[in-house]
Amino acid sequence: MQRSRSSLANDAEGLAPGLYIVATPIGNLGDISSRALSVLARAELIACEDTRVTGKLLHHFGISTRMTPYHDHNAARVRPGLIARALAEPVALVSDAGTPLISDPGCKLVAEARAAGVTVATVPGPSAAIAALSIAGLPTDRFLFAGFLPAKPGARATAIAELAAVPATLVFYESGPRLAATLAALRDGLGDRPAAVGRELTKRHEEMIVAPLSDLAARWAEAPPKGELVVIVGPPAAPEAPDAADLDSALLAAMTTLHLKDAARQVATALGLPRTQVYSRALALKNGE
Ligand code: SAM
Repeated sequence: MQRSRSSLANDAEGLAPGLYIVATPIGNLGDISSRALSVLARAELIACEDTRVTGKLLHHFGISTRMTPYHDHNAARVRPGLIARALAEPVALVSDAGTPLISDPGCKLVAEARAAGVTVATVPGPSAAIAALSIAGLPTDRFLFAGFLPAKPGARATAIAELAAVPATLVFYESGPRLAATLAALRDGLGDRPAAVGRELTKRHEEMIVAPLSDLAARWAEAPPKGELVVIVGPPAAPEAPDAADLDSALLAAMTTLHLKDAARQVATALGLPRTQVYSRALALKNGE
């Protein structure tokens, strides 16, 4: 969508002072929202990670709002000035691509702006994590966004171990050269779960490959893929419920040495079953049912 400078300048009224967190495309420029364009055009200042990257985006849409860099290396120094300006006039924050704050700078800026009484408004839009989840076909009812894993194998294994018991789909960002090692480490730490790799989403060579972690790790073991990547790993399989015979034999064994109530409590904990269910079965066994 190409909008001319003049049409954006025409709606240059009424943007209240505040900090506007504006999502931008993750590849396909057609994904920018009309509200994002309007806010970027009407803001007094756009804070961005890299003025060259955002400059290209603004140029494409004919927007001439002034930019100022805001990135990990200057954030502490420039944050107070940005907050002071956002109290008085509209200031936008964008990242190179996608939604600011999602594996991108801005968290402290938003927190400190809020604390200083700045109105913080969202202009939502693309984010690679959500885009990948929307087409992988893995469970989305509960997911945990884990960003980039550590690069060093030991730290990476520790981070993966911390996630192993999380009963949710896991979402990671990764780069091509590290993909195969990361997939192998995920397989080793989580088991061979269903997984997916989304590559170059919204771009010409977009692909989403869904397969068990071991297959995905083997696929790129020799030649790393090009482009930007999201890794999605399905949740752990639900533990299998013990069958009735297992429950009865565990209860009968426990009841030889424990009172019925204690036996039920011990077996419920051991088998991960509700205590009330195990207690009523223990009663039934005691009554010879
Ligand atoms: N803030 C961004 C967002 O909302 O998605 C993420 C920024 S993070 C620094 C960049 C990482 O996001 C990339 O290394 C890649 O893992 C992922 N990513 C960004 N664009 C992507 C795309 N088009 N396809 C797949 N992954 C992408």
